[in-house]
Amino acid sequence: MTTTPSPTESDVSIARATGFSECAIALRRALSTTPIGWLLAVWFCWGRVPTQSIVLWLAAAFTVWAGSLWVLQRMIVSGSQLPIHRPQLRWIAGLDGFGWGVLTWFLIGYDPVLDATLMALLCGVTSVNAQVYGTYVVAYYGQIGILWVVSVIGLLHGLDSQRALDYVIGLGVFIGLTAYYTGAISKRLLEGIRLQHANSSLAAQLRTALQKVELDAATDALTGHWNRRALDDVLKQQVERHTASGKPFSILMLDIDFFKNINDEFGHMVGDDVLRAFAQRLREFLRSADFCARFGGEEFVVVLPETSLATALEVGERIRKGVAQSPLLNKPRIQATVSIGVATMEKGQSIHALFAAADAAVYLAKNEGRNQVRSHTPMPVCADSV
Ligand code: GH3
Ligand code: MG
Ligand code: MG
Repeated sequence: MTTTPSPTESDVSIARATGFSECAIALRRALSTTPIGWLLAVWFCWGRVPTQSIVLWLAAAFTVWAGSLWVLQRMIVSGSQLPIHRPQLRWIAGLDGFGWGVLTWFLIGYDPVLDATLMALLCGVTSVNAQVYGTYVVAYYGQIGILWVVSVIGLLHGLDSQRALDYVIGLGVFIGLTAYYTGAISKRLLEGIRLQHANSSLAAQLRTALQKVELDAATDALTGHWNRRALDDVLKQQVERHTASGKPFSILMLDIDFFKNINDEFGHMVGDDVLRAFAQRLREFLRSADFCARFGGEEFVVVLPETSLATALEVGERIRKGVAQSPLLNKPRIQATVSIGVATMEKGQSIHALFAAADAAVYLAKNEGRNQVRSHTPMPVCADSV
C-alpha cells in the first residue's frame, strides 16, 4: 500500500507566499478595471439620483481606489518581500469593500428598480473579487464583510425597513454563499500551487541526482579520472572531428613500471595510494582540453585533441620525466617510473587500430628498458632515463 507524503511546513508556507503574490498581481489588474464598474453605476443612476450624490460617491470611491492602487504598486515593486506586506493588502481589500459599500449611502433610495440594479452590481463586485482573492482568501473575507456592513448601514438609512431588510438578507445570503465557495476553491488553488512547487523541486532533485549518477558512471572511483566508458565516448567524438576537419589527434597509453612489485612489497592499500598520486601527478602535465582516463589497473590513456605525433611525443616525455623526477609517495617513499606508448590517428584508421598501435608502442617501451616513450611509427624518440 502506498501513502501520499504529507506536505511539509515549508511547502505549505511557500504555497501561501506564492498565493499571496499572485493575489497582489491579480488585484492590481482588477483595480485597474474598477472604473468600468463606476461608469456602469453612474450610467444606471444618471437622471434618477441627484448629481451631487453621484459626485460624492465617485469622490469617495476614487480616493479609496487611488490610494489602494498606489500602495499596491509599491508593494509589488518590492517583489520578493511581498508576503511581509500582508497587512497592507488586507487594508486595501477592506477599503475597496468600503468604497463599494458607500454606494448605498449615496445612490440608494431614489428608485426601486435602480435599488435592485445596484444590489445586483454589488453582488457582481463580490463575484469578480472572488477570483481575485482566490489565493489569499483572508483578505477577501475582509473585503466582502466590510462591503456588507457598510451597505447595511446605507440600506437601513436610505430605505423603508422592509425593503432594507430584504436587500440586507439578499445581499447577505449571496455574499455568504460566495464566501463559502471561494473558501473551498481557495483551498484547491493553494494545494495546486503547493503541488506545482513540490513537483518542480522534486524535478530539480532528480536532475541533480541524475547528473551525479551520470558523473559516477563515467568516473573512476579510485583516481577520480574518467573511466573506460567515458574514454569510448570521447574517442568517438574525436574520430568524428578528425573525419570532419582532417586535423590529427593523438593518444598516450601509460603503464606504470613494475607496479606489481610495489603491491607485493608494500601491500595493495599503498599500491592504491601510489595510483592516486600518479593520477594527481598526471593532471599537472595536461591542458584543460586534454582528457585522461584510467584504462585498467595501473594503465591510463590520455587523449590529446588536435595534437600531432611529434607534439604528443613531447607531452609523453614531459610526463615521463615528471613522474620519474620525484617520489610519488613520501611515506613510505616510493619512486616509480612509467612507460608510455604514443599513437596518432591516421586517415581511415579505426579506434581499434589506434589502440593496437599505442599498445604496441608501450610494449616497445617496456622491452627497451621501461621508463621510455615510444611511438608506433619509426619517429625519432627523445626519451631516455632521467
Ligand atoms: P610492467 O612494468 O611490465 O608493467 O610490470 P607491472 O608489475 O606493472 O605489471 P603487471 O601487469 O604484472 O602488474 C600490474 C599490477 O597492478 C597487478 C595488479 O595486482 C595491480 N593492480 C591492478 N589494479 C590495481 C588496483 O586498483 N590497486 C592496486 N593496488 N593494484 C592494482
Ligand atoms: Mg599493465
Ligand atoms: Mg605496469
